[in-house]
Amino acid sequence: MTVEDEIEIMGQRLHSRIRHIFGRSLHIREVDAGSCNGCEVEVVSLSNPIYDIERFGIHIAASPRHADLLLVTGPVTRNMELALIKTYNATPSPKLVVAMGSCACNGGIFGDTYASCGGVDKLLPVDVYIPGCPPRPQAIIFGLMVAMDKIEQKMVRTEVSK
Ligand code: SF4
Repeated sequence: MTVEDEIEIMGQRLHSRIRHIFGRSLHIREVDAGSCNGCEVEVVSLSNPIYDIERFGIHIAASPRHADLLLVTGPVTRNMELALIKTYNATPSPKLVVAMGSCACNGGIFGDTYASCGGVDKLLPVDVYIPGCPPRPQAIIFGLMVAMDKIEQKMVRTEVSK
């Protein structure tokens, strides 16, 4: 199986989950919370002609107010701490937080220091962790599939509690 076949199969599955859950596209706000830029290169790759995730109903949103999911990279530098919390608060519920890359998962090579918080979950409730330094685009797509299960569970819980 070629990489293109692999992406097509994963992408189609993800697309049908997104349509089933939202009845529309999935909107992602990407937040660079102090990464080395390696993870960003992989996020940008998702929109290149090989991966082209827009065809699977996935859009990168310009504002957290239009987002269903925050995709956070980096160990969260102290300088980005407040900005990340404000971004989270501006995102409508039910919202998901995905920590992408080893740094976002647990601080990675930067750790927990005077300059970095040591991972996104030190500040926000993380729903999905995507390990890797950096994770491949296929890993990001897989992580988004796991995220769809999580948001479905959140939506059911919200309905039950009404
Ligand atoms: S996980 Fe690796 S590629 Fe991503 S921000 Fe950290 S050091 Fe850079």
